[in-house]
Amino acid sequence: MRNDPLFFFSFSHSASRSYGDRGGERTGCSATDLVIERNQVLNPKPDPSTLVFGKQFSDHMLTITWSEKEGWEAPQIKPFQNLSLHPASSALHYSIELFEGMKAFRGVDNQIRLFRPMLNMERMHRSAERSCLPLFDKMELLECIKKLVEVDQEWVPYSQSASLYIRPTFIGIEPSLGVTRAGKAMIFVIVGPVGPYFATGAFKPVSLLADPSFVRAWQGGVGAYKMGGNYGPTIAVQNEAVKQGCQQVLWLYGEQEEITEVGTMNLFIYWTNDNGEKELMTPPLDGIILPGVTRQSLLDLARDWGEFKVTERSMGMKELLGALDAGRIIEVFGAGTACVVCPVGSLLYRGEYGRKASEWAPLVA
Ligand SMILES: *Cc1c(COP(=O)(O)O)cnc(C)c1O
Repeated sequence: MRNDPLFFFSFSHSASRSYGDRGGERTGCSATDLVIERNQVLNPKPDPSTLVFGKQFSDHMLTITWSEKEGWEAPQIKPFQNLSLHPASSALHYSIELFEGMKAFRGVDNQIRLFRPMLNMERMHRSAERSCLPLFDKMELLECIKKLVEVDQEWVPYSQSASLYIRPTFIGIEPSLGVTRAGKAMIFVIVGPVGPYFATGAFKPVSLLADPSFVRAWQGGVGAYKMGGNYGPTIAVQNEAVKQGCQQVLWLYGEQEEITEVGTMNLFIYWTNDNGEKELMTPPLDGIILPGVTRQSLLDLARDWGEFKVTERSMGMKELLGALDAGRIIEVFGAGTACVVCPVGSLLYRGEYGRKASEWAPLVA
């Protein structure tokens, strides 16, 4: 890919590695075997200023199937199309499904770059392991994804406020109703241009409902993995938040009503701590927090700046409300690939509104 118009800054890698043969089970999905069938009909690209999140898709998709008997088959890039699945497929019955979310950006230099994609591959690999789905070669999958982005490169918006969202998905397609490990599985990747995540536009503060009667994830559970089963059940809670005039859910956990995440984003608080120090804090990766790539990147950046204390620790509602009352909360925000950084403007907790956005000075000037 050296003479390619695409340049991905995150790593360089030769796609020529061979399958790892583990007890007859091929653990690779090799990018060198990739078969490309180009779409004869290319759809018109949407105007980047009209994009809504996750509604438009490109002309191609990547699929890679696996079976216990055959191992990984040759990856395919083919025209975007419906999947044909056996109705007993385990993904449809028992949520044997996981996904990733990452982005490709077109720089002002016209080069296309993926943002820290190996972190997504590593997380996807962990989710696969927890789902008893077959393991795959992270580098090879990334090579295949890069090839898909290359084939659909005209879908990467020529815009600084839009990007190409990449959705790798991994499903169990075992045609059996037994609650057992899937003997057949498929990775597929779809991509589509996206604008700002929230209809209100990027960087407009959102309001949160903090209700301890709802729980997103729990100790010993799977909240730290990007499994589809974690998200469907949150929609009713999100609807409840909207009913109460809020835009997003602040997920609380445990007796201390620890603040954990906001919607499908990691949560950050920038405040003056009890010792009078400026501090950026986010809850630790204790098993109930999704280890976000954006979260990690913000921590890396802030630690690198060295301008304020950076801490991974938990904070209960009581502590947050106390600090709010004392006027020590400077900024609260969510962080994730889809929305990048999303300021929080207000909080509804036990029927009471917390301080309003206007009283919180923005951290990111
Ligand atoms: C995906 C996700 C995030 C953000 O992760 P990124 O890698 O930064 O996109 C945070 N919380 C939850 C629950 C998520 O599903």
